[in-house]
Amino acid sequence: MSNPESLSRVVVFGLGGTIAMTPTGSGGVAPSLTAEQLVAAVPGLNDAGVKLDVVQFRQIPGASLNFADIAALHEAVAAELPHAAGVVVTQGTDTIEETSYLLDLLHDRPEPMVVTGAMRNPSMAGADGPANLLAAVQVAASPQARKLGCVVVFADEIHAARRVRKTHTTRCAAFESPNGGPLGWVSEGHVHLANRLSFRTFLPAPPTDDVRVALVPTALGDDGTVLDAVADHVDGIVVAAVGAGHVPAHLAPRLGAIAEHKPVILASRTCGGTVLAETYGFPGSERDLLARGLISAGFLDPVKARLLLHTLICNQADRDTIASAFAVASGHADPALWPWAVQMSGADNA
Ligand code: ASP
Repeated sequence: MSNPESLSRVVVFGLGGTIAMTPTGSGGVAPSLTAEQLVAAVPGLNDAGVKLDVVQFRQIPGASLNFADIAALHEAVAAELPHAAGVVVTQGTDTIEETSYLLDLLHDRPEPMVVTGAMRNPSMAGADGPANLLAAVQVAASPQARKLGCVVVFADEIHAARRVRKTHTTRCAAFESPNGGPLGWVSEGHVHLANRLSFRTFLPAPPTDDVRVALVPTALGDDGTVLDAVADHVDGIVVAAVGAGHVPAHLAPRLGAIAEHKPVILASRTCGGTVLAETYGFPGSERDLLARGLISAGFLDPVKARLLLHTLICNQADRDTIASAFAVASGHADPALWPWAVQMSGADNA
């Protein structure tokens, strides 16, 4: 059993981002506010019935975070979680859809792990950081949010890390989950869940920065220059194909040849719906590419597929293991086929 006192403790990790940015004096805004200052600026947080601790972890924009930062964050969070109800991470929104998914792949405990940020910096009218932080803390402290894995709380919505995407450059409701919608909402300080994920996926080893997976988009008239330029220099490739998983016909044999030597994942640049498997039969179609050895990302968008492949390679996964992992993570295979049997640790699983 968890110590009841620990249930109301939430640890906030500050990583920077717009939520912490203030005018620089030489133009524009840059991260400067500490996690302590962020927490102090939230109206209503003192009445939330939560004991807050803060960790100033990084002070950078979202685009400058790397795999080592996320691996270190996971480790720091894991050290806190046996003694907390949950954690909140504040960071730049530009990469929240990525960091949250990486954290979700590593987060094998039942406590909620919540990532949030802001679209409007604190010097702007209607800055959204304080409301997002308050809602994030409420979710992190909520027993209902246990076993959801890593979630993104933004504009009072709760999104699963593996589904969420940043879909707008400026509006406060910038986060959406095209495949399934939000898991729930925060209203009057309470968590309301509309649904839960039907499965979760864990990987034992964290990602490192010495693996290279290229995200290669294709588009009208693509002559393959980008593909040819990267193919020999990376450990794997994710193709952001058009539509349901299609590329120009002349790229199909080139992708097939690469897939003989390294993993090539077929994802859709539409970022909604699944890559198909049995519908189209033209050269460059999903049937053609899968027959040539590409691996389907299914419902995973190209950005998440890149992170999964990267972390699988960091876990020494061979081609068959990568294919099995993608079959599950893509939403197309029995979750029992996930190659790692990582037990969720923590009180709920005792
Ligand atoms: N636009 C970003 C943000 O919302 C900047 C960043 O990702 O740091 O935080």
